[in-house]
Amino acid sequence: MLVTGASRGIGAEIALGAAKENYMVIVNYAKQADDANHVVKQIISAGGQALAMQADCSKEEDIVRLFEQIDQIGTLDSFVANAGIIGGQNPVSQTTASQLKELFDINVIGLILCTREAVKRMSTELGGIGGKIVLMSSVAARTGGIAQEIHYASSKAAVDGFCLGLAKEVGLAGIRVNAVRPGLIGTTIHELHGGFEVINKWASGVPMGRIGQPQEVAQTVLWLCSEQASYVHGALIDVSGGR
Ligand code: NAP
Repeated sequence: MLVTGASRGIGAEIALGAAKENYMVIVNYAKQADDANHVVKQIISAGGQALAMQADCSKEEDIVRLFEQIDQIGTLDSFVANAGIIGGQNPVSQTTASQLKELFDINVIGLILCTREAVKRMSTELGGIGGKIVLMSSVAARTGGIAQEIHYASSKAAVDGFCLGLAKEVGLAGIRVNAVRPGLIGTTIHELHGGFEVINKWASGVPMGRIGQPQEVAQTVLWLCSEQASYVHGALIDVSGGR
């Protein structure tokens, strides 16, 4: 299983959980090698198999290199497109083209290019043996997200549309594709708008009255990659405490 953006947060929990389910896990990261190596060490010391692989998933050349490196190791069974950023906090009146480019390069274009590489390898129509793909969206895709971060919501809405269309395209090619839409999950991504203190205040607006844990998202992703979800395809699954 390849998990992009697995050096911390939700991606790290997906990697740790996948290793417990006997996947050999590729822990991708862009910048934080120490964090990625820590995830790998945790997996190996628990008896699992993992490798850290650097690649900036907003760059096509890095993405192609990442998948070619994985080809040297074995066959890709599952791909989780998890890497993503919020992309700054400002009203639309102050949005810049360079800000949008940085955001969409990772959250949308990079996600689609990574998925292209996965589909090329998995598709039974292209000589592969099938596989599972999970795309990391957000409830922001349907709620519009938080004020001053609507660029982020827009990027995640693009992920939802891509998931729905891709499900139609690869349904006969042995690939199951789904998207997961987390709500407020306790990770470092929220440092941009005040960290845990702020999101714990927002938790009062969540029907379940609390923020979610990265493990709760990871469990859903791993279920989608499992045979238990054998007829789940083209689904957008909220993991949001009812938000
Ligand atoms: P996080 O704690 O900020 O972690 C982000 C991860 O993505 C890190 O491992 C980071 O690695 C990696 N990353 C960032 N840019 C990258 C790039 N260009 N190429 C490869 N890796 C890159 O975020 P998170 O909260 O776990 O979020 C994970 C995903 O869930 C994101 O797609 C996010 O939009 C989505 N999500 C999160 C929440 C939430 O409340 N936390 C809610 C809805 C959706 P490096 O530091 O090494 O670059």
